[in-house]
Formats: sequence, structure tokens, C-alpha cells
Amino acid sequence: MEIEKDLLPPEELKTLFSDPMKLEFGKTFTDYMFTMEYTRKEGWKDPKIEPYHPLVLDPATMMFHYSQTAFEGQKAYKSPKDEILLFRPQENARRMNRSLKRMCIPEISEELFLQAECELLTLEKRWIPTQKGTSLYVRPTVIPTEAIVGPIRPSDEYLFFIILSPVGPFFKEGFNPVGLLADKAYSRAASGGTGEAKTGGNYAGSIAASQVASNKGYSQVLWLDAKEHRYIEEVGAMNIFFVLDDRLVTPPLMGTILPGVTRKSVLEMAGDLGIEAEERLISIDELIGGITSGRVTEIFGTGTAAVISPVGRISYDEEEYVVNNNETGYWAKKFFDTLTGIQYGELEDKYGWVYEVE
Ligand SMILES: *Cc1c(COP(=O)(O)O)cnc(C)c1O
Repeated sequence: MEIEKDLLPPEELKTLFSDPMKLEFGKTFTDYMFTMEYTRKEGWKDPKIEPYHPLVLDPATMMFHYSQTAFEGQKAYKSPKDEILLFRPQENARRMNRSLKRMCIPEISEELFLQAECELLTLEKRWIPTQKGTSLYVRPTVIPTEAIVGPIRPSDEYLFFIILSPVGPFFKEGFNPVGLLADKAYSRAASGGTGEAKTGGNYAGSIAASQVASNKGYSQVLWLDAKEHRYIEEVGAMNIFFVLDDRLVTPPLMGTILPGVTRKSVLEMAGDLGIEAEERLISIDELIGGITSGRVTEIFGTGTAAVISPVGRISYDEEEYVVNNNETGYWAKKFFDTLTGIQYGELEDKYGWVYEVE
């Protein structure tokens, strides 16, 4: 298809970007999208960039029934030198393939995944907002497209697409503490399940608990393990960190937790920023005890969408526990400033995490 640039008239984009901090997360999409199809016979084929368009699918398409899907979430930033930057995109390509493998979907080569993102981002450069705190969210997704409501088996056909959305802050709170609800009545992922894959069903299953949290005035759920409802796992779309006895503690990856790229980065940079990090089990009782005794001085979530999200309140068993006076803590700010500084190309990237889109 002929690529005619600038589908949205420039003056309309200007209006849309008049206050990019107010862009609702994931609501607006750019002019173009990337697509590639898979058939059992021919493999992945026909990669192309086309104007953003709706998908027309048979109601019997497996997509609508059994959720054999996988997706990723990344952000593209514009540097002060007007370069397009991605943050550790190789990690996303690799994780996409781990999710695909878990869902019995044929893998996509990392080179192709990255190349597709780069070509689409280069074409859509004008859609990357520049204000700090804003970015162009990248959402690669694979769905099964075979139309058959038959036995549960892998689809014979898939569609891979990448869409882009200019975004402001993820939480309406901005970089202010959020409240979390821990509820023993629900769990997100069980041992042997799909918790470590970025796949649709994990999120569908979490909505009921999120609504309970939201109705009680908490922005997300603090998930406990499915077996004992005792050990802390993660938050809706974030991994979780505690500052306990001046050490950084996060639950270990044991199959039920999504292995976040932000989580990994925080763990890798902690020592350099002056705090020792530890991956270990932490129970809700230890956390509550630590908050009430003052040993837990900070809590924050990590994820691409919010980068670092300070947590100021935890609700558990009908009690609310306030952390750090419900204020943003030293370490949350330190990690946020350092990570976003690297991501926006403002700070030296001594880890080699920034990927420049050519
Ligand atoms: C995507 C996601 C995260 C965060 O992963 P990042 O790679 O840091 O964005 C954490 N938990 C869940 C459930 C997620 O879906």
C-alpha cells in the first residue's frame, strides 16, 4: 500500500499535543500500524505498514473465545537531540517470544520484531511527544485468527500487529503515591499457570479484584500468591519493591510474576545508586509488621507505563496502613529520576540500555 505521510493534518496533531500531559493513556493512536500474518503452511509472512485500521474478523475467530494471545508494552522517547530512543527493546523482543512459546504461538525473530518497530517509529516520528513524562507507547500484539469454535488447540493462523499511542502519565495521580488493596479472596496467577506471560487472560481474570479495589478507593490490587494468599507477588501491571531495613526487597520470579524490564533494570542499578537489592519472598504479615514498626520506609511499583509509582497506602483485612506519610520517598524519586533520565537521553547511559532507532 502507498504510504502517504501525515494522515492526521498537522494542525490537528498540534491541537492534540497542546497539553500532552493530559493525553489519556492508550486512547489515541497514530496514523499507521504494522501487520504480519502467519499460516501453518507459510510461516510468518507479508510484513507491512498500513494506515491504522479496524480488523474485520469472523465471530468464530479463536481470538474471541479462548484468548491465545500475547502482547508487549514499550515506550519510545524523543531525546534532546531529536533522536528516537527505545529502552532495552531486545528484552521486550525476548519476552514476547517467551510469552508466545507459553501460549503455543510460533515465535517471531528478534531482528524482525525490532526492525518492524523501528520502521513504524521512524515513519511516525512526529507522534512522539517531547515533554518529559510523555512518550509514544508501543503495543506489539499477536492474536489467533483462525475461525473455528472447535476443540482447544493452537490456532493455525495468527496476526502480529504493532500500534502506537502518544501518552501522558499512566496514573491520574501522576508521580504521587497510589493506594493498593491486598485481598485474600482473589489471586492473579497460580504455579504452572500463565502468570509470567504477557497474555490477555491474566488481565481479564484480574478485573473483578481491580473493581473491588477501585470501589474502596485504591488504584490497583497488590496480588498475593494463589496457594497460601500470603506471599506478595506484584501489582496489576507493575512489579513491587519495598525498602525494608534500608535494603531493597522484591519478590523472586518463580513463574507467577511477570518478569518486568523495569524491575530488572532497578535491580541492576540499585547497587550503583547505593542500596543493596535482594529478591526474596515477603509475606503480607511481614510487610504489615514492617510498616507498623517503621522498618518498611518505602514501597514503589515498577513498570513501563508508570516507570516508578510510589505507593503510599496499603489496605489489608479492612485496615489501612500508611507508608512514608503517603509521600513520594527518596528511593522512588531516585530510581524514577535516574531511569527516566536515561530513557530520555538526558543522563549518561552507562549500562547500554538505550537503543537509538535509525
Ligand atoms: C508489563 C507488566 C509488568 C511490568 O513489566 P515492564 O517490562 O517493566 O513494563 C509487571 N506486571 C505485569 C502483570 C505486567 O503486565
